[in-house]
Amino acid sequence: MATAPLVDGYGRVHRDLRISVTDRCNFRCTYCMPAEGMQWLPRDELLTFEEITRVARVCVEVLGIDAIRLTGGEPTVRAHLAVLVRQLAGLREGGRPLDLAMTTNGVTLRTLAGDLRTAGLDRVNVSLDTLRPDRFRELTRRDQLDSVLDGIDAAAAAGFAPVKVNTVVMRGVNDDELVDLAAFGRDRGVTVRFIEWMPLDADQRWEGDAVVGQDEIVAAIGAVFPLDPVAARGSAPAERFVYRDGQGEIGVIPSVTHAFCGSCDRIRLTADGQLRSCLFAVDEVDLRALLRSGADDAELAAAVRGCVADKWAGHMIGQVTFIRPRRSMSQIGG
Ligand code: SAM
Repeated sequence: MATAPLVDGYGRVHRDLRISVTDRCNFRCTYCMPAEGMQWLPRDELLTFEEITRVARVCVEVLGIDAIRLTGGEPTVRAHLAVLVRQLAGLREGGRPLDLAMTTNGVTLRTLAGDLRTAGLDRVNVSLDTLRPDRFRELTRRDQLDSVLDGIDAAAAAGFAPVKVNTVVMRGVNDDELVDLAAFGRDRGVTVRFIEWMPLDADQRWEGDAVVGQDEIVAAIGAVFPLDPVAARGSAPAERFVYRDGQGEIGVIPSVTHAFCGSCDRIRLTADGQLRSCLFAVDEVDLRALLRSGADDAELAAAVRGCVADKWAGHMIGQVTFIRPRRSMSQIGG
């Protein structure tokens, strides 16, 4: 089958596939999930590892995807995740480049990091929104800060490089810890990426005033540890800033205050096999139905192309035309 890049109507070439392997999570972060009452997808609606790998293979071999990130829910609660990683790593056959990464809350990395690394995972991002045990308990509704910190060390020890830490910043919740988190990153040699809170929480408590924007984040950290911007951002979601003293860098993902939709190169596969051209998309393309009705690779590729062709210019957060997607963050895959 002829290969051709995955281009949308705005000329954006798509190379990055985010795959959610489960909608379940072992944390209940207040800015993402409710304390109770999430409706989990029935088991038979989840894509199997073979189905996920088939979609990924078509994306990599036919459509030019060269980066895959596993996410969820919490990807590590899916049993035998290393088996899936090994299958996906097999797509590098013949020397094809494929960056394999995972976003995780890190709580089980002490146990899993080695196996995931051996299976072919290249990189991990660990989510950590606070360094204070009491605040961690409130935010995640779990008492497991030590396990997450241990998981970050385990990831580095297993050879993941770089290990990045993702921090969602919320006004009045953890915005007083920006400098502490930056110092943590400098000490441990990890890049902390500060994420603006987005309107994707299941409880629908998000409000614009609670967003701590990129400029404020950079000013607060830069006042203590001077920072310089890195010019070339390309299609990466994070704006990078290096410490002037050479001790590493931070990233800021400014989805709300400096949206970067114009350079977006990402598509997303939900755990139940729905393809989304945007985190905030209101429409999905049902790849699971195609997979389970005997579609061949050409039909799958055409469906992915169709989804990307229909991609909109941007998400419009903050404008009257903004529509919240039906699914919340953990159901889509962050
Ligand atoms: N469970 C994994 C984890 O904790 O990283 C992967 C899934 S989680 C949905 C992916 C990322 O999305 C995490 O860094 C999380 O903090 C972030 N996130 C969740 N809800 C968010 C929101 N409403 N706005 C911005 N980021 C959010």
